[in-house]
Amino acid sequence: MTEVFEGSFTQQEPIPEAGIEAAIGLMRHGRLHRYNVAEGELGETALLEQDFAAYTGASYALAVASGGYAMGCAMRAIGVKAGDRVLSNGFTLAPVPGAIASLGAVPVFVEVTDNLTIDLHDLATRIETSGAKILLLSHMRGHLCDMDALMDLCSRAGVQVIEDCAHTMGARWRDTASGRHGVFGCYSCQTYKHINSGEGGLLVSDDDTAMARAIMLSGSYMLYERHAAAPSPDVFEQVKWDTPNISGRMDNLRAAILRPQLANLDAQVEAWNARYEVMERGLQDVPGLRLIQRNPNGRFVGSSFQFLLPNAGAAEIEHFAARCADRGVELKWFGAETPRAFTSRYDSWRYAGTQRLAQTDRVLAGLLDMRLPLTFSLDDCALIARIIRDEAGQITNPQPVAKLG
Ligand SMILES: *Cc1c(COP(=O)(O)O)cnc(C)c1O
Repeated sequence: MTEVFEGSFTQQEPIPEAGIEAAIGLMRHGRLHRYNVAEGELGETALLEQDFAAYTGASYALAVASGGYAMGCAMRAIGVKAGDRVLSNGFTLAPVPGAIASLGAVPVFVEVTDNLTIDLHDLATRIETSGAKILLLSHMRGHLCDMDALMDLCSRAGVQVIEDCAHTMGARWRDTASGRHGVFGCYSCQTYKHINSGEGGLLVSDDDTAMARAIMLSGSYMLYERHAAAPSPDVFEQVKWDTPNISGRMDNLRAAILRPQLANLDAQVEAWNARYEVMERGLQDVPGLRLIQRNPNGRFVGSSFQFLLPNAGAAEIEHFAARCADRGVELKWFGAETPRAFTSRYDSWRYAGTQRLAQTDRVLAGLLDMRLPLTFSLDDCALIARIIRDEAGQITNPQPVAKLG
């Protein structure tokens, strides 16, 4: 019997009842703008910031309109200017180079390893050759590089780090929340991330001046005293005259939906990881299929799953993905020549120049990717793994592994 999976790869869980209740309450009184608060009231957005600072252990947090906005705001807050070079991973998604381009800055992509993390040797080389002083580090698909080695390299080279934690909200490196190594950590609350308000973003930092600037930038007018996870007013006094307002605030409705989800995030992380482990076990020892090795110092969030078919040619992979799709398993392939939906590649961002990354090309040519929404049961994951295993076994004519460089 040919097994077929019938679930949906894009169906997220419903908003928790507590979030629905809070959202209805807000709509009843109508104070949706974050600074539209009653006497003595903090407002859901300020409360979310307080909750998120406590969750990550950061001194300060700021809620904004999207993850992409968070990254652009973080770069502006530390003074990135038009024409500056900003290092980032060769394997990431479009909002990352887009945030760099939004400042008129220029992305410099760094090679990715077979484990889908930034290549630290290539990073060292490109720091030297580009002269860039900023790294927008993308923890793409939740894979954390050796953060100790990365921070050591960057601090020795005088490179400031901003972390894109769109896929690592809830993850940790040793005992430190992901997003707490760099001067800013940036998160997304878009529907396909770890907490869902449709759109939204968060920033964390311990840097007084940088966070005061970020809050001014986000469009706080002169109402920064209505924040509850912000630097003290005297820090704002120093920056408020020369920091433009580039509105990108979060509203109270989204914050109200997010707070109960944040309170439950650690339980969700356990649920994702249980699904990830079922997938990993189910795909152990499949000839020609390589699993991604994760650093034991990380606590990951398995909200998506990747594997490599390093020996298969493009035609075999297309065929394999089509057969999986016929059996209900939606895989995204990063080797396709034309960008599809969310899956675009550094060479599809032509505004960013024409860099060639031979190692990244080789890795992406064999990379398959899928979502693991929490609406999947453990049995669903076992079934998906059986289908992938079965179809990978049908790849009969593998091409030799492409050579590096
Ligand atoms: C989703 C995502 C972001 C932020 O996206 P927004 O849609 O702007 O919230 C940033 N980086 C990566 C890798 C992402 O997947």
